[in-house]
Amino acid sequence: MDCLFCKIINGEIPSTKVYEDEFVFAFKDISPIAPVHDLIVPKTHICCANKITAENSEYIAKIFEAVPKIAQSENLETYRIINNCGEDAGQSVMHLHFHLVGGVKMGWGKESLGKTE
Ligand code: AMP
Ligand code: ZN
Repeated sequence: MDCLFCKIINGEIPSTKVYEDEFVFAFKDISPIAPVHDLIVPKTHICCANKITAENSEYIAKIFEAVPKIAQSENLETYRIINNCGEDAGQSVMHLHFHLVGGVKMGWGKESLGKTE
């Protein structure tokens, strides 16, 4: 399958790994929007949040078990987890991923959606 994040997981495309276990791979975002910006992905191809099912949700649980470990390794006590699902939400890589961003004080509200119109 021609998937960028599948290729990163199997090492075909290089990345800066921050965490790995049987179910989860995490690496530095190539174009960070914050001092810490990691991507956490399941080691199976799930295109987006809309395709999470009872059959594959163990990967999601494992991702969220990994979150505190990754945050600790990045010296983050406070951070934001973001998932963009689908084009209008800003998903550009169709392999489910959670952005872990931190290291900066963040706002919350309408403006934080980054609306384009
Ligand atoms: P999204 O827009 O939610 O689909 O997020 C995709 C993210 O992947 C963006 O933040 C990109 O900067 C990031 N990205 C794209 N290509 C790479 C790559 N080769 N290595 C690491 N991050 C990447
Ligand atoms: Zn994939």
